[in-house]
Amino acid sequence: MLSRRRMIQTGVGAGVVSAIPITQHVAWGEKSFTRPGYNPNYLEPPEGEHTWANWSGIQKSTPKEIALPLSDEELADLVRRTTVRIRPVGSGHSFTGLVPSEGIIVDLSGLEGLRQFDPKTGNATFGAGTRLFQAATELAERGRAFPNLPDIDVQTLAGTFSTATHGTGATLTALHDYIVSFDIVTANGEIRRISKESDLDLFQAGKVSLGALGIITQYTLKTVPVFSLRRIMRIDPIEEVLATMEERADLHRNYEFFYTPHTGYAAVLTHDLHEGPVSGRAESGDDDFLLQLKDLRDTFGWWPWLRSSIAQAAFPTGVVEDSSDLSHNLLATARPHKFNEMEYHLPRENGVGVLRKVIEKLDRRKDSFYPVEVRYVAEDNAWLSPFQEGPSLSIAIHSAADEPYDYFFSEFEPMYLENGGHPHWGKLHSLGRSELSARYPRFDRFAELRETLDPADKFLNPHLAKLFGVTYDA
Ligand SMILES: Cc1cc2nc3c(=O)[nH]c(=O)nc-3n(C[C@H](O)[C@H](O)[C@H](O)COP(=O)(O)OP(=O)(O)OC[C@H]3O[C@@H](n4cnc5c(N)ncnc54)[C@H](O)[C@@H]3O)c2cc1C
Repeated sequence: MLSRRRMIQTGVGAGVVSAIPITQHVAWGEKSFTRPGYNPNYLEPPEGEHTWANWSGIQKSTPKEIALPLSDEELADLVRRTTVRIRPVGSGHSFTGLVPSEGIIVDLSGLEGLRQFDPKTGNATFGAGTRLFQAATELAERGRAFPNLPDIDVQTLAGTFSTATHGTGATLTALHDYIVSFDIVTANGEIRRISKESDLDLFQAGKVSLGALGIITQYTLKTVPVFSLRRIMRIDPIEEVLATMEERADLHRNYEFFYTPHTGYAAVLTHDLHEGPVSGRAESGDDDFLLQLKDLRDTFGWWPWLRSSIAQAAFPTGVVEDSSDLSHNLLATARPHKFNEMEYHLPRENGVGVLRKVIEKLDRRKDSFYPVEVRYVAEDNAWLSPFQEGPSLSIAIHSAADEPYDYFFSEFEPMYLENGGHPHWGKLHSLGRSELSARYPRFDRFAELRETLDPADKFLNPHLAKLFGVTYDA
């Protein structure tokens, strides 16, 4: 079994970097990449209040209270009685300002775990605060699985569905498409069970709801029989990848790749159904790889030709990992290095053309080193699903958590929008009501439903006020 660590050991290590005389890179080596105003600390809360920040530290607030209800009824009571605004939080892995609140932030981690399992249908009911890895493990113990997972699995179910979180696979939908029903606490403190039979509009709106319609306490989800996958990772020249990606995405169950700026190479990951004994998951080594890429940028970023020649000489090509395991052990990985991210979902037919431009732009920026992630997602019909208009190609760009990301908005977002792109709700974007109404045929209906369910704007915060084009009156 080949591992990615081997690729790194033979890769862009310190030995290669130190072979170049130090005098050639003193000026570049002294450059600071930290963005102006970056502050890794939490905000200092006023006396008696609390402090909250998201995973990357880009969103912060000082709520009056962080509530941790331990039952659906306790949550309903809290919502009914509150006189201040209230926002639900999952694992805080969204980059956009969906969660910050100066009122109450409700942490749903008390509503977790498997509540019910129907062996006949395979349908499983979980508390909304259940993490994906926990749900996937519980399902595997019962011989079931989710058809797909995103590239990490620490998100809560509610957080995952509410922002249309997805994995990759041309025939595989985003995860909210597994929802059969959900229980939601509305602004008046009522708990309602919603399915397509009970209330079709609220069902289709509530699958991807940004936490704007109420607080969801549990989901009943479709599952599939447990399955194993074989994962192959190859390093291929990017031109070859661009020329074959459309065809290969249709050949493999899960197809994605990561293009590393300034190298001319992409790491292509495929997962296909596997039967028989499994090898277990290979050690990833992704963290070391990222640090090496950063080192290479920090040391040789001023000389793009040198940077790419070192990387090209050091990268092994062809297959660097071949492993097999149960699906949930392979599909998600860990991301210990913090970053900020923008991801747009493009109509598949526009995808390759836009991606070429993204790669050109990243290769022109001397400071870029984070790989761009490219994935395929199938269509679904939730009202706020960014995948509702047909098959999509998702393009995600990243920058280290302490580095600038303003160029995402100036250099990349306009190009995505011109090409029919829809932003990931949990990742950086600048859209407000008019742009969203123009892009989502049912955005205005969603906004009306929100106003009906929450006339006093209990669940509003400044970010949601911008999305829905309403005044935020603190
Ligand atoms: C390292 C990293 C990797 C990622 N990988 C992927 C990926 O592979 N694919 C992908 O699509 N996205 C990915 N994301 C984005 C992430 O999946 C989404 O932002 C997701 O929403 C995070 O889930 P969460 O539990 O942290 O939710 P949060 O970020 O805490 O909340 C997200 C939204 O859900 C709402 N919410 C939370 N709980 C409830 C509830 N009980 N009822 C109603 N609303 C609720 C919140 O108010 C908010 O609007 C990644 C993010 C990070 C940081």
